[in-house]
Amino acid sequence: MKTYDIVVLGGGPGGYVAAIKAAQLGAKVALIEKEVVGGICLNHGCIPTKTLLKNAKVYKTIKHASDYGVVLGGDVSFDWSLMLKRKDLVVKKLTMGVGGLLKKNGVEVISGLGKVLSPTKIEVNGETIETKNLILATGASPIIPPIPGLKEAYEKKIAVTSRELLQIADAPKKLVIIGGGVIGVEFATIFSSLGSEVTIIEKLDGIVPMMDDDIRTQYAKILKKDGITIFVNAEVKAVNGHEVTYSFDGKDEKISADTILVSVGMRPNSQGLEVLNLKMDRAAVATDEHLETSVKGVYAIGDLNGKYMLAHVASAEGLVAAEYIMGKKDAKMRYDRVPNAVYGHPEIASVGLTEKEAKAQGLTYKVSTFPLQASGKALADNEKDGFIKLIVSEQYKEIIGAHILSYNASDLIAELGVTMTLEGTAYEIAHTIHPHPTLSEIVMEAAHGAVDKPIHM
Ligand code: FAD
Repeated sequence: MKTYDIVVLGGGPGGYVAAIKAAQLGAKVALIEKEVVGGICLNHGCIPTKTLLKNAKVYKTIKHASDYGVVLGGDVSFDWSLMLKRKDLVVKKLTMGVGGLLKKNGVEVISGLGKVLSPTKIEVNGETIETKNLILATGASPIIPPIPGLKEAYEKKIAVTSRELLQIADAPKKLVIIGGGVIGVEFATIFSSLGSEVTIIEKLDGIVPMMDDDIRTQYAKILKKDGITIFVNAEVKAVNGHEVTYSFDGKDEKISADTILVSVGMRPNSQGLEVLNLKMDRAAVATDEHLETSVKGVYAIGDLNGKYMLAHVASAEGLVAAEYIMGKKDAKMRYDRVPNAVYGHPEIASVGLTEKEAKAQGLTYKVSTFPLQASGKALADNEKDGFIKLIVSEQYKEIIGAHILSYNASDLIAELGVTMTLEGTAYEIAHTIHPHPTLSEIVMEAAHGAVDKPIHM
């Protein structure tokens, strides 16, 4: 029987990063993957959506070429099949790259469905392999809620999850999106930019509920200005073929769609792990700060533990689990500085507490905001929608929350994450010379505002 120091089950951003790190630290590692390495993120999530968002942005920009003094000869159109082709090429390049990295680092990749027999034995392709440690990284799958008629619409391919929508033959003319979370709004931006009529139906009182209230209120206004219809406090009651019935404002309303995207959340892929008798938190596997489960030597990382369903968290957890197993006993996760992003035109990015959370924790804090309208770079780029909001402690001006609504917000947020890791304050950011003209100056200006006053406002 083949034996390993570590077997990793699932080759997504959690599993493949854990496998590479463990191998780099000297472990004999096998990674079992039933589809393609890269997981949901590279194959059906983060990367394909960002590629399509870029396609959509290029189309939208060209349609508004005259705003930039560019004169076009005729009508502008797009070819959806070519957009899908570009997406597939980007995905292939990245997944091949991951395959190469695994090989180079000496990880044995086993293609097949892994069946866990015990904490130390896994069956794959009819063979049983043995391991000292097991890292579970099986990810999560979209939830199809028990709405009458939805399952039937899904079987007829009228209702789809993000995975099917990323392969759809034609861009839908009318798209109804059930759920205004990160995935829902991302697809809303892609297809509305391409001219689809998009409606979001959200059960809660606003879209992207995990974001700061000021940011998400402004964001919803931008989406509406871009032609996306949003119903909040609205609940889908039934689906009948192409027709969606939802309650809104005390009444039942109907709307028809070519395609219905179901994006109400993900459920951890914990089926098949029952034999391990792990402590669970509903469908998620419970873990400690080292990602170890209730069974010694068995770890659960990424979407499977349901803490943060984000690729960068899965990878960070993969590193911690690998390091901990390999003897770095101080390796542990810090979940209070996880950056969060919503991708679109513009983006939202945040790290730390929202103002509501700061209030609920009874913190004394100061808020400083700075608008994109006052940024020379944003004006030059013709990207005026948005602002930054810094939440700092009243006494020392330590950064406790940062929220950005802007193009490229997801890139800007890293500076604030680093500042928080260093327990830095708004003083350090304000006194750090930021290059001009750049969007990063909005971070410096907001920091000036937190300690005194911004210069350019
Ligand atoms: P996964 O990436 O789900 O990987 C799990 C892997 O395990 C899969 O490859 C699967 O085939 C394999 N597997 C499962 N069971 C077995 C088995 N028994 N045997 C063998 N193999 C098995 N996150 C971000 O941070 N940023 C984004 O922009 C972003 N965009 C997203 C967009 C969409 C549309 C979606 C759906 C998700 C997005 N996410 C994003 C979330 C991100 O994709 C996940 O958080 C991330 O992929 C989780 O990584 P993971 O390693 O835990 O699991």
